[in-house]
Amino acid sequence: MQSLELFERAKKVAPGGVHSPVRSFKGLDHHPIFFKKAQGAYLTSVEDKTYIDFCQSFGPLILGHQDPDVKEEVHRMIDTAWTFGACEIYSLELAEWMTQNLPWMEKLRFVSSGTEAVMSALRVARAATNRKKILKFEGCYHGHADQLLVKAGSGLAGTSASSSAGISPEVAATTLVTPLDNIEQLREVFKVQGSEIAAVIIEPLPANYGLLVQRQEFLKELSTLCKTHGALLIFDEVISGFRTAFGGMVELTGIKPDLVTYGKVIGGGFPVGCYGGRKDLMDLVAPSGDVYQAGTLSANPVGMRAGLRTLQKMKSIDGWKVLNQRTEKFCQKLQKGFDDMKAPVTISYHSSLFWIHGRVKEPIRTIEQIPAGQGENFKKLFLKCLDKGVYLAPNAYEVGFISLAHTDEILNDAADKILQAAKEVF
Ligand SMILES: *Cc1c(COP(=O)(O)O)cnc(C)c1O
Repeated sequence: MQSLELFERAKKVAPGGVHSPVRSFKGLDHHPIFFKKAQGAYLTSVEDKTYIDFCQSFGPLILGHQDPDVKEEVHRMIDTAWTFGACEIYSLELAEWMTQNLPWMEKLRFVSSGTEAVMSALRVARAATNRKKILKFEGCYHGHADQLLVKAGSGLAGTSASSSAGISPEVAATTLVTPLDNIEQLREVFKVQGSEIAAVIIEPLPANYGLLVQRQEFLKELSTLCKTHGALLIFDEVISGFRTAFGGMVELTGIKPDLVTYGKVIGGGFPVGCYGGRKDLMDLVAPSGDVYQAGTLSANPVGMRAGLRTLQKMKSIDGWKVLNQRTEKFCQKLQKGFDDMKAPVTISYHSSLFWIHGRVKEPIRTIEQIPAGQGENFKKLFLKCLDKGVYLAPNAYEVGFISLAHTDEILNDAADKILQAAKEVF
């Protein structure tokens, strides 16, 4: 059966035919492709067409699909146990490994998604400070918890201006929002409401509304303001953690947040989230403290094993260095190609993340700086790429992810295809 037909069936049983909105190809004038197989850097559709995959499940697969070492580990775990709902040795190993290798993670808790990690970290922050308000930044996405669906990311970009239906105004009102890259406005917010802010949460590398690389000064000032006003600083590293570097943006910026959230890469392709940081804060969590947070399948052993193996493998081969070099080469080749054909296109990149957008002279740091026509231009390029066997994340505001399975050869092939697509579009 073909994708279109399957999508018609799916729409009868799931809202919009999907189980997460950004998979739906909304606004792209095309039905989603249904896949049946994935291997390394490639996806295979039900039509038996192969695609070079730059979505990689939206980030978790830093080693690519079905990495053989992770696969072996997962098979071994499946033959041992699937879930205990009790104390076991697998989460202990990952937790010890993380706390030993990431000095800011003094204590941590595993959950099953990035959303859960963020929700829980905020609960801890409110309990620790006895304050109500949370400050977030325009364009940062922190999962779908009520309090955070305010001016969030790609799945919402271009649809409704802010949050979501079904969120009580009282809850939304406790979330303050300020623009990225604007120190004056940030100071103003703190001046007026600083004593009420429990925590500031930020994606230190915002990558859910395009790629909005922040200035070090901005992050530094944020950290200083938090300290001055007694607000906790939470780095949401669900996308950047174990992606931009082993130590993520904490390592790259040298800024030490009070709490950090992880997801995506940490589970090696299985549903794992994690929050942690200062020991005194984490000790507020039940059962040692009175911040309740629990999960039936939390610290699922298969996810723990896949995660640990993924991270250890990346670390042992310095995978981040390799990835960053390949990404740079790939993006520079693309940019040169766009320039040569005078296509009005710029490719922004950071570590192994990239984002294609309209031509700009200065780096884009806020959502206002995104050139007009992003949706329309992306759609055209996306569809041509699809045709040529390149699968970009199906949304104009999602970044592309490069995995270790994307060899230089595959990336060259992909760049040629993307440039050919651009030639036909622009
Ligand atoms: C993906 C993401 C989340 C949400 O994680 P889920 O596992 O999808 O719930 C939260 N924060 C950031 C920065 C993310 O990229």
